[in-house]
Amino acid sequence: MSDSNRPQRRHEAQGFTCIHCKLQVPGQAWGTKHRNHCPACLHSRHVDDTPGDRASPCKGLMIPIAIEVRSDADHASGEWAIIHRCESCAAIKANRIAGDDSERALLALALRPIARPAFPLDDFRPT
Ligand SMILES: [Zn+2]
Ligand SMILES: [Zn+2]
Repeated sequence: MSDSNRPQRRHEAQGFTCIHCKLQVPGQAWGTKHRNHCPACLHSRHVDDTPGDRASPCKGLMIPIAIEVRSDADHASGEWAIIHRCESCAAIKANRIAGDDSERALLALALRPIARPAFPLDDFRPT
């Protein structure tokens, strides 16, 4: 009759608190079954060995470092994924974006190399 005997099961739909910006992130998001990063700052946590398994003991902060555009032969427009690097163990992971990820944050990440070129753009000449 009471809820007290219900097992405390943690699963994907339960949500989490972002360890970077402290946002309360709900578990459900359009476009993803395994929400694993914060929709506001795009940071994640190293909890998976393979997406969704929650098997990694690391639990380090995963920093978004780049956008991957996945090419799909059947679709003209590529799907975006965020490349995360773990601050603790340096693992690199790719995670699909979710429907409510901040478009500003995604664009800022995608444009980072353009905004900070490692070489002078003025010198560009077609060869
Ligand atoms: Zn966050
Ligand atoms: Zn890690």
